[in-house]
Order: sequence, then C-alpha cells, then structure tokens
Amino acid sequence: MDGDSALREKALEALEDVTFVPAQARNRLTSMVRTRPDWCISRQRAWGVPIAVFVEKRTGEVLRDAEVMNRVVEAFRSEGADAWYSAPPERFLGEGRNPDDYEQVFDIVDVWFESGSTHSFVLGRPGLSFPADLYLEGSDQHRGWFQSSLLESVGTRGVAPFRALVTNGFVLDEHGRKMSKSLGNVVAPQDVNDSLGADVLRLWVMNSDTNDDLRIGKEILKQQGELYRRLRNTLRWLLGGLDGFTEAETLPYEQLPELERWVLHRLSELGGLVARAVETHEWVGVYPALHGFCTTDLSAFYFDIRKDTLYCDGPATPTRRAVRTVLDILHRCLSTWLAPVLVFTAEEAWCARFGRENSVHEQAFMDMPVEWNDPALEERWTRVRAVRRVITTEIEGARRSGQIGSSLQAQVELTLSEEEAALFAGVDWAELAIVSYVDVVIDPTSSSVYVDADEGGTLHGAPVVSVAAGEKCVRCWKVLPETGADPEHPGLCLRCASVVADSKGLERA
Ligand SMILES: [Zn+2]
Repeated sequence: MDGDSALREKALEALEDVTFVPAQARNRLTSMVRTRPDWCISRQRAWGVPIAVFVEKRTGEVLRDAEVMNRVVEAFRSEGADAWYSAPPERFLGEGRNPDDYEQVFDIVDVWFESGSTHSFVLGRPGLSFPADLYLEGSDQHRGWFQSSLLESVGTRGVAPFRALVTNGFVLDEHGRKMSKSLGNVVAPQDVNDSLGADVLRLWVMNSDTNDDLRIGKEILKQQGELYRRLRNTLRWLLGGLDGFTEAETLPYEQLPELERWVLHRLSELGGLVARAVETHEWVGVYPALHGFCTTDLSAFYFDIRKDTLYCDGPATPTRRAVRTVLDILHRCLSTWLAPVLVFTAEEAWCARFGRENSVHEQAFMDMPVEWNDPALEERWTRVRAVRRVITTEIEGARRSGQIGSSLQAQVELTLSEEEAALFAGVDWAELAIVSYVDVVIDPTSSSVYVDADEGGTLHGAPVVSVAAGEKCVRCWKVLPETGADPEHPGLCLRCASVVADSKGLERA
C-alpha cells in the first residue's frame, strides 16, 4: 500500500474527484483506505479461483514460462478453473519438465481482488465507457468491492474506475429485523414480481429512503400497490381526457388561464427535481413528490375542477383547448418521468396514444420552458387553495348534514376583506369549489387575510353554504336559475343549450 507504488496516496487522491451518495459515505471509504493494511491477494482456501503457478523446488522461484502459462489459459478457457485441480500437472508443464521438480500452488486469489477487477473487462467496450458513471452497492462494499475496484484501477490505470458511488442500505422486514429463513420473514423479489409485478417492486425502492436500511413486508407492499394504483389512474385519466386530441387544439402559453399556468409551474418544479436527480443520483424523495403531485395537485384539485370544462364545454372553447393543451404536456412528462421505474405501465400509457411502433423508453425528458416557472403565481395560488379548502370543508359539512347532495347543489356566500378581494380578483370561486354559484361579499371593516384555519390563521366570516336556487341542468348538473330558459332545450342551462345546438348544427352541416 505504501511501497514504491504509493497506492494509498494515489487512491486517496483519486477519491477526491468521486461523487458520493449519500455524501457521508465519503468519510467511510477514505478512512478505510487510509487505515487499510497491505493487501495479500493470495488465500489458503479449499475452493476459489486458483493462482495457477508452479514453484521450482530447487530455487524456490516461480516458473515463468509462456508456453506453460498458455496451456493453463487454454485449459481454463475450455474447462474452467477447476482444470487446475483435476488435471495432472504434466499437462500444463509439458514434455521436458519433470513434475517432481515443481510444486503446484493451490492458493486461491482473494475474492475481493477478483470482484475488484470487473472494470478491466466490463468497461471500455463500445457503449460502456471507462470510468463508469456509477458504481452502486450496499454499504458493506466500502470494505469490499468499492475499495478493491478503486485500488486495482488506481494501481493499473492511475484513476478511480467510477465517477460516482451510490451506497444503499440493506433490506429488512416490516419490523426492521434482518431477514432469515428461521424467522420466516424473507420477502423474495421474485415472489413480489409474480404477485404484484416488477413495477410495484421498483416503486417500493423509489419510495424508500435507500440511503438507509429499507423495510419490506406484506403491509408495506400493499401500500405500494395502492400508490401504484393512483399513479396508474392518473395516467388513465389523462388518456381519457385526451381522447381525439390533435396538435391543432394546442394553445400557446400566453393564452392559458391562470389555473393551467399554475399546473405548468408545478410541473416545471418537478422537472427540475427530476433533472437534478438524474445529475446527482440523489433520488430519495423524487417519486414521493411525483406521487403527491398526481394525487393532491392533479386528482384532488386540477382534474376535479376541470372535469366540467372537459366533459361539458364545446370542443372549440378556449378553456377546453387550454385544458387539453396542459393534459397533453402532463401525459408526456409523467409517462417519461415514470418510465424508468413503472417500465410497463408507462409504456402502456405511451403506446395507447402514439401506437405500438413508439416506445416511451426512447423519449427524452421534456425541457421545461423558463416561462413556466412563475413563483408569484405559485404564491397567489397557495392562498387561493387555502381559501378553497375552507370552502370545501364547509360544503363537506353541509353534505354530511344532508343539507345538500352533491357539491353542485350548493351555492356559497364568501366574505372577503377589501384586500383579499383585490388579491383574488378574477378568481372564479364557483369553478374552483365545484359549486353552482358563489356570491362574494366584501367586508370593508376587516383587513385580515383569509387563510386556512388549519394553518392557524384567523377566519372572519366563514363561507355560508345554502341550497342553490334554480333547476338542475340535466347535462352538467349545475343548479342554475337560467336552466330551461331556452325553450328549444328544456332542462339545459344556457351553456349546455348552446353546446348542444352547435353540435346539432355540426351534424346537420
Ligand atoms: Zn349545463
């Protein structure tokens, strides 16, 4: 380690350029290299890869004869290393050498030396550059493979064989115990693959903190199956909403409503998160963030609000075109981001739109246009969503008490201070709260900002929920006084009457 080769010093120097994930792994490996004793690569074991040499008894010198070595190589190539143990020594020594003059060595190569040599025959071929971008293994390999690979590569090539090292923890059972056959708590990857599928197994890894030990078991896998189902449902909902979509429907960014621009802002944040993870190999937390986006921001908020536009507005309506513009982007981004983990599910979602001759695995991640990133919009919409939560909580109460059935049967009186009214100008509260009508009342005596009661803010004048006046439109289910006003379309609101008239006009044309 410290002889003429100065292997220790060179190895420590080489480690300075290596990226460690998690970062604290750097200390572990460097301190192990700093204190490691000299490396004896021969071992006296009953089995292993033999150090296939002969020693001349008279001189005690190792026999250096190219022809002998070629015969050993030939035998190993055709029969494997066991030939050293099974063949008589004269086969390797050849005619002209007396086996009695030589001692055949039966020591084996240290297994870590063997495993540490992978870079010399795996890397450097077409498509596999040297050094590797990444070596990935469990934390025990600081003593083993990571270290032996480093020492051999530095010794033979002067550089580390990896640019980055990712160290992961061990897999434990649900209660944090080591898996063992006697405890009966072993979860075999193949069994999970057979019962839940490889996508769920990979998703479990991505949802775990891989820097630490990982837990797995029936309950945990059941939860992962549930998380998987929600991601899958998001993709399926997008596909439904994009039925018949053509590029011609797409609207430019400047023509999108604020809600759509907010979705794109969130998407650009996630795009940044994914791009950073690709760069740094730090994936912990990325998939939970994608899942949170799909469930909280999309399913429970954006999709819910836009169902009405998507199902009931006329196809050429600017809002509907804006929604489908965003759904198209969402589908492309989510399919490609999920593809490395939900390999089969993402491919299914991609091919459902673009055909079997296309593969999601050949797509690059979409570049996020700079204009999508809009922190001011994000701040405004954080407040809008806080107010919305207050309204929906009241509506939920009214539903539970039997005052109303669906939220569309409600109308809401929302009190805002003058400040808030100015802040929320242009916000369509009825659309956001999925009710039929919202009456905004301005209270000039108050200046407090309307914030989510859950977040400890003060609430002045809780929204008042009452039964909406008017008739239920049979098409969109909104309850409006105008329903039935168009005698040609009894039972429909004016919006629905005009959409139906337009589509009939189209049919006639
Ligand atoms: Zn309607």
